[in-house]
Amino acid sequence: MENPYEINISQIMKWVLDEKAKKVLVQAPDGIKPYLKELLDVLSKNTDVYVSGSHTWGGCDIALKEAYTLGIKHIIHLGHHGPVRVRIPEDVKVLFVPAFAKVDIEKVLEREIEKLRGYTSIGLLSSLQHINQLDNAKRSLERRGYEVLIGMGNLPYPGQVIGCDVSAAVKVSGKVSCFLVVAGGFFHGLGVYLKTKTKTFVLDPYVGKIFDIEPIAKKILARHMYNLSRALDAETFGVIVSIKPGQYSVGKALEIYRKIKRYGKKAYLIVVDEVEPSELENFAFLDAYINTACPRLNIDSEDVFKKPIIGIGEIDYVLRDEIEKYDIQKALQI
Ligand code: SF4
Repeated sequence: MENPYEINISQIMKWVLDEKAKKVLVQAPDGIKPYLKELLDVLSKNTDVYVSGSHTWGGCDIALKEAYTLGIKHIIHLGHHGPVRVRIPEDVKVLFVPAFAKVDIEKVLEREIEKLRGYTSIGLLSSLQHINQLDNAKRSLERRGYEVLIGMGNLPYPGQVIGCDVSAAVKVSGKVSCFLVVAGGFFHGLGVYLKTKTKTFVLDPYVGKIFDIEPIAKKILARHMYNLSRALDAETFGVIVSIKPGQYSVGKALEIYRKIKRYGKKAYLIVVDEVEPSELENFAFLDAYINTACPRLNIDSEDVFKKPIIGIGEIDYVLRDEIEKYDIQKALQI
């Protein structure tokens, strides 16, 4: 099976040898896991290798718990640029391996460029997997007469966006007539559109298409408003605290928990690792959930929860019964 991701095995091996690591823990997003065999086989010649079977959602989700339990000091974390919303403890070392995708975006641009007709200046953005092709894409668009801006946000690469950080887009929003986000699926493009309220196209190299995010965003927003309005009737809230290192927000959770009680409603702090709908459903006495973990959960995944799930920035609208003032740009914690 050909590996569609660039994984520099000799560089990883060099790190392991330089570190004199006796055992390592490898973790990767589910999409990369099928292609780990070669890396695991090479690594296991010199060291004991453990591979995390858990999901690896982002740089927020570093397998520190597994490492501590197994007495491992070295984690090889694939698919993300670095830690997100978390500081790596000093007693653990983490090698982040981006794993760029090998799919070619130039061919998609060539075939789908008509979709960008009428827009003159483009804010070019990308998920980490395609960031190595962004300069080429910029030149290609410029050759076709577009003005192209690549914003530098909080993340290490110019133009890079992740689900909870679209600062590269915010930097140039207002200077561009649309964004073009190179990424698989609508997750990254949706974040850009919701945060900037600017026309956003996604170039998805896996399906070979450029598409407008707006119709999808409208449906998601309509569903979200419906869920927020359902939460208005809630009397009993479950405030979710995730123990994932970069999603752990117990201070905020406590603040919200106390606020809900001040409003004369009931609140319970629910501690989880993964925020799994089926686990939350066991708490049948809850009317709604407050999400203090990944800020995208209550937007992108709310259809999998049977009860309304609302975000940190949304609780005030619900408690004050002020849904008519709701502004997703302000409410979204990204
Ligand atoms: S969007 Fe969510 S899963 Fe992704 S890095 Fe941010 S907190 Fe983690």
